[in-house]
Amino acid sequence: MPIQLFNTLTRKKEDFTPLNPPQVGLYTCGPTVYNYAHIGNFRTYVFEDILRRSLEYLGFKVQHVMNVTDVGHLISDADTGEDKMEVGAKREGRTAWEIAEFYTQAFFRDAGKLNILPSHTIPRATQHIPEMIALIQALEKKGYTYRTSDGIYFDTSKFKEYAKLAGEKNIQGLKAGARVEASAEKKNLTDFSLWKFSPPGTKRQMEWDSPWGKGFPGWHIECSAMSMKYLGETFDIHCGGIDHISIHHTNEITQSEAATGKRFVRFWLHGDFLNMGAKMSKSKDGFVTVSSLEEKNFNPLAYRYFCLNAHYRVPLDFSWENLLAAQKSWEALKGHVLDWQKESVSGSRDVQREETARQKFLECIQDDLNYPQALAVLWEVVRGNFSASSKKELVLEFDKILGLSLDRPPESTSLNLEVQALVQKREEARKTKNFKAADQIRKQLEEKGVLLEDTPQGPRWKLKPKVRDEG
Ligand code: AMP
Ligand code: ZN
Repeated sequence: MPIQLFNTLTRKKEDFTPLNPPQVGLYTCGPTVYNYAHIGNFRTYVFEDILRRSLEYLGFKVQHVMNVTDVGHLISDADTGEDKMEVGAKREGRTAWEIAEFYTQAFFRDAGKLNILPSHTIPRATQHIPEMIALIQALEKKGYTYRTSDGIYFDTSKFKEYAKLAGEKNIQGLKAGARVEASAEKKNLTDFSLWKFSPPGTKRQMEWDSPWGKGFPGWHIECSAMSMKYLGETFDIHCGGIDHISIHHTNEITQSEAATGKRFVRFWLHGDFLNMGAKMSKSKDGFVTVSSLEEKNFNPLAYRYFCLNAHYRVPLDFSWENLLAAQKSWEALKGHVLDWQKESVSGSRDVQREETARQKFLECIQDDLNYPQALAVLWEVVRGNFSASSKKELVLEFDKILGLSLDRPPESTSLNLEVQALVQKREEARKTKNFKAADQIRKQLEEKGVLLEDTPQGPRWKLKPKVRDEG
């Protein structure tokens, strides 16, 4: 089935057809594992997950590669400052290798909670140093590189199409900004490092021998080397957040195409930012993580639902109030699915009308992943005049793309289990008319932020999200 995607390279929506149908090569820039990923990062990963799920739903066979940057990403994307991994190691008094391992695991745990499918291949930068060196050698042979006192650089004046992704205006703006921090040895303001030398007299935790001396790779060369290794010199789709357009992805294109003489990527897709606002970014660790959401009794999937409210190419403002509204809608949806599953007589299915609704939903997805519109179609089905079994069928099918786990029972987290045990204890106390004990347990539950409701079907509870208490 066809799909249109907005290609940053051509600045328009285009019919997407892969190079070798039905195979699709998809590369998404992965995390730099020196700290937890914040929910802004996860907005981009959720968008990429929906892209992959949509392509798979439409019948493509996606080969998804997402790297882990565990070395070489400097504090500034423009090649200045320290390596983020070494900064993380200093901050926490652990080795750079331990930092990388710890935050890689944390990343996949958080991604799992957001129902983000793991990529088929997860290459780590530290395990692909020979491929990066080979790529730099190829560039050197073709005369694209030069040496300074701190590394091997790419001479961007030799690649005529340098501005093709970001546009000439943006590259000029970038140059103006780069003037302040540019090293005098760089030939052009936009030149970037391919290989950085370990500073003389120091031993870095992560360093490798190379034909040019001991050191470590530049961040951009990592993604070029790993994507081409697993997906070929020309592949279908490459994604990231919009901040990657003018430096990281521009440099990836430049060095890859200079080395191979071929087009690197056919479709470039970029997700716009989640705006956290000044107040929000001042939270405990400087940013909000998946764990911060859970600490406030939000389900990470409510955040996924929140992300579905805006098209991936428009900015989205974060607020706890809007997250609360998203959590309520997500819980309501799950409640409907549960009710439809319970209904013994769920009515007959009208396959014709189901098909019309399915088409309407898919048309939104096929229009450059318009998932906010697709979500509206899902709600039309929920509220519409369908039998329970038709509703269940359609909503769970749509959820294959949206990934909201609408039919998954509540997780057995340790807090959930503890609360469940207390609720049961209170029920027993009430049955034996021990009201004092029952009241005490209710108080205990309230302290844990549990909202308890006694219904004819028995007690129902949920954790009350802590919205106002900023921190
Ligand atoms: P990084 O680890 O910094 O390379 O970022 C990981 C991914 O998150 C990249 O695709 C970035 O473009 C993206 N990203 C960073 N900040 C935000 C944000 N506030 N909103 C959405 N995406 C972001
Ligand atoms: Zn990348």
